[in-house]
Amino acid sequence: MVSAIKAAMNGAKVTLLERNNKLGKKLLLTGNGRCNFWNEYQDITKYHSENIELFQELWQTKKDVILPFFHNLGLIEKVTNGYYYPFSNQASTVLNALETKLKTLKVTIKLNEYVTKITKDKKFHVYTTNNIYESDKVIIAGGSKASPKTGSDGNIYNLVKSLGHNLTPILPSLVQLTGSDNYYKLWDGVRSNATLTLKENNQIIRTETGEAQFTNYGLSGICIFNLSSYISKGLLNNQTEIIYLNLVPWYKGSKEEFLVWLNNQSIKLNNYTLKDILLGFLNPKLVNVIFKIAKIKDDILWENAPQTKIVDLLTNFPFKVQDTLDFNHAQVCQGGIPLTEVNMQTMESKIIKDLYLVGELLDITGECGGYNLGIAWITGLTAGEEASKNA
Ligand SMILES: Cc1cc2nc3c(=O)[nH]c(=O)nc-3n(C[C@H](O)[C@H](O)[C@H](O)COP(=O)(O)OP(=O)(O)OC[C@H]3O[C@@H](n4cnc5c(N)ncnc54)[C@H](O)[C@@H]3O)c2cc1C
Repeated sequence: MVSAIKAAMNGAKVTLLERNNKLGKKLLLTGNGRCNFWNEYQDITKYHSENIELFQELWQTKKDVILPFFHNLGLIEKVTNGYYYPFSNQASTVLNALETKLKTLKVTIKLNEYVTKITKDKKFHVYTTNNIYESDKVIIAGGSKASPKTGSDGNIYNLVKSLGHNLTPILPSLVQLTGSDNYYKLWDGVRSNATLTLKENNQIIRTETGEAQFTNYGLSGICIFNLSSYISKGLLNNQTEIIYLNLVPWYKGSKEEFLVWLNNQSIKLNNYTLKDILLGFLNPKLVNVIFKIAKIKDDILWENAPQTKIVDLLTNFPFKVQDTLDFNHAQVCQGGIPLTEVNMQTMESKIIKDLYLVGELLDITGECGGYNLGIAWITGLTAGEEASKNA
């Protein structure tokens, strides 16, 4: 949509083909229906790719055009902790803004047009299930296979492969994690702030602090999503992925000091059981899990408890990742067309002249926080601009 707008603004005659009976099905799901469309905190470390250096220059030059672009569509935002949403809190406002601009620019929108094949001789021929379109330039913005019910179900990967492009492994990302322990029913539904340290084969890969969501299959939440991109890749390569949760992130001292602190609590809270003490700062369901794992009775006193084990579980609770949930649950796919196959100043394919490739289809992924739409806007606007030069 943003490619079409930009190209039409430059005077190109644009036709937008969409397989669904409406535009922007995925956009409407974003940000829990609120569309977190940008983030004030722009840093290249928020973006991941096998060739991130190739995206860096484009991102550097284009990141400042995104907000003016949306302001020129009449969109008013609301910013919460750097996260941009439409002021209405409705993703449909962003979609409306894009659709209105497409309409005023007289872009031809063809819905229910499933592209099945693209060929090129002098011109491109774009085959859909109903028609054949002829054009001088083509921009492919067919998404990924995350949340396939939205229309981006991975079919586009076959299309770009048939055009000679390669793909790096396509893996679910920004996705929930499963484990195989037998206590997840006990903690199901808990949301608790924690510091999470991901270790791959015992090496620290990344630390996140935020709200972890404990579910009946494992773990979810934004901080988990951000770790999931590393985990998907690690699991593909048969690495062991363990997340260690510090369930008492408010305590700033060492493990040894925390043990002393608990000791002091037990003296201060005379006659309290260990459970009573833990309930002062931990969700009861998590307390039950700790008791189950430590195999201790509900009425145990601190002085009789396996103190080091309890401190370990509170500060370094191990969650061994079995798998991620699948593409139906993933917000994005990591992997895609290698950036080495695209001119990253123009988004033109290096394999086929006048073909442009944008959005999630490429091997660039963002973290949670508006960065994935950011990739779609930056690459999409660039392709629209470049494809319409001399239009
Ligand atoms: C639940 C959920 C929440 C998300 N929340 C956020 C968020 O808050 N912030 C953020 O930055 N990102 C978020 N994302 C990620 C973001 O939505 C995507 O990264 C972004 O939409 C990718 O844009 P795209 O244009 O590349 O692909 P898409 O938005 O997937 O668009 C591709 C379009 O191409 C169409 N298409 C596919 N194949 C064909 C074909 N053969 N013929 C014709 N049409 C075809 C599809 O129907 C689709 O409409 C979220 C994703 C999900 C699933």
